[in-house]
Order: sequence, then structure tokens, then C-alpha cells
Amino acid sequence: MSTLQSFDPADGSLVWEGEIADANAVAAALLRARRAFAAWGALPIAARVEVVERYRATLEERKDALAQTIARETGKPLWEARGEVASMIGKVGLSIKAQAERAGEQRSDMPFGQAVLRHRPHGVMAVLGPFNFPGHLPNGHIVPALLAGNTVVFKPSEMTPATGAAMADCWAEALVDHPHVFQCIQGARATGEALIGGHIDGLLFTGSAAAGAHFRRVFADRPDVILALELGGNNPLVAWDAADVEEAASVVVQSAFITTGQRCSCARRLIVPDTAFGEALVQAVAALADRLVIGAWNETPEPWIGPLIHEGAAANARACFDDLAGRGARVLRPFTGIEGRSAAFVTPGMLDVTGVFVPDEEIFAPVLQVSRVPDFAAAMEAANNTRFGLSAGLISGDDALWERFLVECPAGVVNRNRPTTGAAGSMPFGGLGESGNHRPSAYYAADYCAYPVASFEAPDASGNAGALGGRLKP
Ligand code: NAD
Repeated sequence: MSTLQSFDPADGSLVWEGEIADANAVAAALLRARRAFAAWGALPIAARVEVVERYRATLEERKDALAQTIARETGKPLWEARGEVASMIGKVGLSIKAQAERAGEQRSDMPFGQAVLRHRPHGVMAVLGPFNFPGHLPNGHIVPALLAGNTVVFKPSEMTPATGAAMADCWAEALVDHPHVFQCIQGARATGEALIGGHIDGLLFTGSAAAGAHFRRVFADRPDVILALELGGNNPLVAWDAADVEEAASVVVQSAFITTGQRCSCARRLIVPDTAFGEALVQAVAALADRLVIGAWNETPEPWIGPLIHEGAAANARACFDDLAGRGARVLRPFTGIEGRSAAFVTPGMLDVTGVFVPDEEIFAPVLQVSRVPDFAAAMEAANNTRFGLSAGLISGDDALWERFLVECPAGVVNRNRPTTGAAGSMPFGGLGESGNHRPSAYYAADYCAYPVASFEAPDASGNAGALGGRLKP
């Protein structure tokens, strides 16, 4: 038996230790999930709603402990972890509403009877979660999948097993009368490989673009397996004009550095006009970044951001930062460690990459690349110079520029004068290009958790013979 461990990135203390699911354990979990599917999928929706509402009540009861687990395991400040748990709780009501609206039953009268639209669950769903929102993001697949009548085998990120286990405990309470409808297995890549290599009907994945590309290849010849891919981005933020430079700088800082840059929707590229406004904004962003409180999740004063997920992530991001500097980018704000802190702590970095060739890669850390452009057409060209299409933002008071930005910018989340990371749970969430596969999650998760069945229904076979009319041989 091999063990998995997770650690608090702020101080290296052990957070969780437990057994890794090997290939046999994964196969057994999938078999149990398949056996549980028939009864669970056949339940009336009201019975499944009751279960997810019990889950919501358990989350509510345990919200403080769960927030602490998330904060300790990811390093994010407690205020942010509390917000994550609140999103998990909110997801239940939203998913019930979305299920009814997008995957419910519709009937319309026809001369012969009725046309009926129903939705049916796929079967066994594998869910693979990322580390950055280890509760909220897998929860966003799991709640709609279970509501729709699927059974779920969930593997949390190997960096956040404690959060996965705590979430699984909440489901165990809610599903006490429905064993094996939800199962959590722990492990890293090998466990994930065993899961997707088993008999599944869907893979609901939130994680890196590289893993998403791998899954597309793995399932190329398996149209029977539903793939929902929520991947990374290299998100642009065009800051064109603002009455108040400090307010605009605050939008930029929140877009680029929240969660220590570890949100898929973080702005990675800031595009500004090559004017006095552009220069003033860049300076204001750097000055604001200097004032950010960085610390451990439970420190006083409360930090705005914590460390990266681990020391290796900081080393990788530093290598990317140094690579950009080596290509000729000018360092506007260094990306450094913090004296007296674990090597997972970093300060936000900024580089001016104007005129420099930079790889179109997501740096999952607080690193902001600034480009200065001569006009708005050049700004749009720079913004769209990416294979991704997750989030994008415009800072401008000009309505005409916003209309143009909306039309010309292919991304799933496009915000104006608000951080690129802002997204409502009552809306769909997902990206284009390498950021996903046109199966947006959040409010639209109901769409990929069930398939539609369209029926013509008549109480008996009468009336069909008349349809042949007089066109029959005597
Ligand atoms: P990751 O891709 O490294 O891992 C995600 C999960 O997939 C983990 O559970 C991991 O064990 C598993 N996994 C990875 N490769 C696998 C493989 N080949 N076979 C089987 N399982 C595999 O992602 P991460 O580092 O945990 O998360 C950060 C990434 O997620 C960033 O790229 C970020 O942009 C992206 N993300 C996207 C969204 C979104 O909604 N679009 C949200 C959050 C994070």
C-alpha cells in the first residue's frame, strides 16, 4: 500500500495522509458505481433533490472546519476559503434550478398525442479536480451530475486530498441510504489514469490545458464518453482609459494576483496604450502590488494572498519569469521569494514584454506581462494572440470600445471594468480554443450531465393508417 500526503504550503506541516487507490481499487470503485447507477438514475428527481439538499445542510454545519481545511491545504487566506465554501453551498440551489430549466421535462400537445422532451443520465461519471479551488470546482461537476442521476467517482488533486476527503464525508451523510452513488478515491496521476482507463460514461475535468489535450486524444475514438473540459488560459486585460487610475489599477491587481495568481481566469497579460495613461497605470499597478499583505492563511493582519501551492510551483514560475527576462522582457517588478518564509511564498512579478516574443503559455502564478500598443486595433490583435479563450477584460468608459471588444474577443468570460476573475454562479463558465471543449460548466453543467430524449407519444396506434392516404396499391 502506498500513501499520499498533503502539506500546508506556508509552513510545510502535514495536513493529510492516506491510502492511494491502486488500479484494483479504482476498478472496484467503478464497478460499485455502475451497480449503484440503475437504482439512483431511476429515482424521481424529487428524491435526488432531497439528497443534495441534505448535502447542503451538512456543508452548512461544517462550513468553518471545511474552510480551514481548504485554507491550510492550499495556502489561501481563510476569508477566501470561506468564500469557496459559500460557493459550494450556493451551488446546490443553483444546480437544482439549472437542472429543472435546462434538463427537465417538457411536453407539447400534438394532433396525435404529445411531443415530450426528457433527459436521461449518462451513467458513471469520473470527476478529476484541480488544487486551486479543491472544493468549489469539483463540487460544480458533482452536484449537477448526481442530481441528473449519474453516479460519481471523484479523484481530488493529489495536492488537496484532505479537502476531497472532507467533501466525501459530507456526501456520505447525505447519501447514507444510497451507497456507492458517490465515491472518492485518492491518488496522483496513476490513479487518475486508472480511473479514465476504466468503464466510465463521462469525464468531467477541471485542470490544465496539457491534461485536457491528453484526454481529448485518449477519448478520440470514444464518442460514447462525455468529455467536459474546463482548462487554463492566457487571459488578456486591455486597460484603455479610466477616469481614476487607482481604481483601474485595483481591477488589474485583483485580476492578476488574486489567489496568488492561481485562478484559471487570472489576467496574465496587461495591454495598455503607449501613452501617459498607460505608463501611469503600470506604475499604479506596481505600487499597489507593493502594498499587498501576503501571509499564511490564519495570520493577523489578514493577508490578501498566501503562498503558491508548493515550493516547486514557485520554482517553475520563477523559471518562466527568468526565461521571459532572458528573451529581453524588462523587469518592472521582480518575482522573488519572501525572506523568513517558506519557498512557496512569492511576491507578484511584472514584466514589460513589448516587442519581445513570448510563448503563449499559462504561468499559474502572480506574473503579469505588460504590452504597450499604439492603437485599439493593435490592442485587440495582442489580446487575441493566444490559443486560449477563457477570460478577457476591458477597462474603458467608452461604450463603443466595449461593443467592439465583445464582438472581437473570443472568450467565455468577458468583463468590463471588473476583474477578469469575476463570474456569477448563475451563469455558464467555460472557455474556447485550448481553454475547453465548448461544454461550459457552472449553470450549464446540467447540459453535459444528461442527454436529451425526444419522443412522440400517442395513447394507441390509431390514426397512423390514415397517414398513408390514398397512395396505396389496391
Ligand atoms: P492538473 O491538470 O495538473 O490536474 C488536475 C487533476 O487531473 C488532478 O486531479 C490530477 O491528478 C489529474 N490529472 C492530471 N493529468 C492527468 C492524466 N494525464 N491522467 C489522469 N489524471 C490526470 O491541474 P492543476 O495543476 O491541479 O490545476 C491548475 C490548472 O487548472 C490550471 O491550468 C488552471 O488554469 C486550470 N483550471 C481551470 C479552471 C476552469 O474552470 N477552466 C478552473 C480552475 C483551474
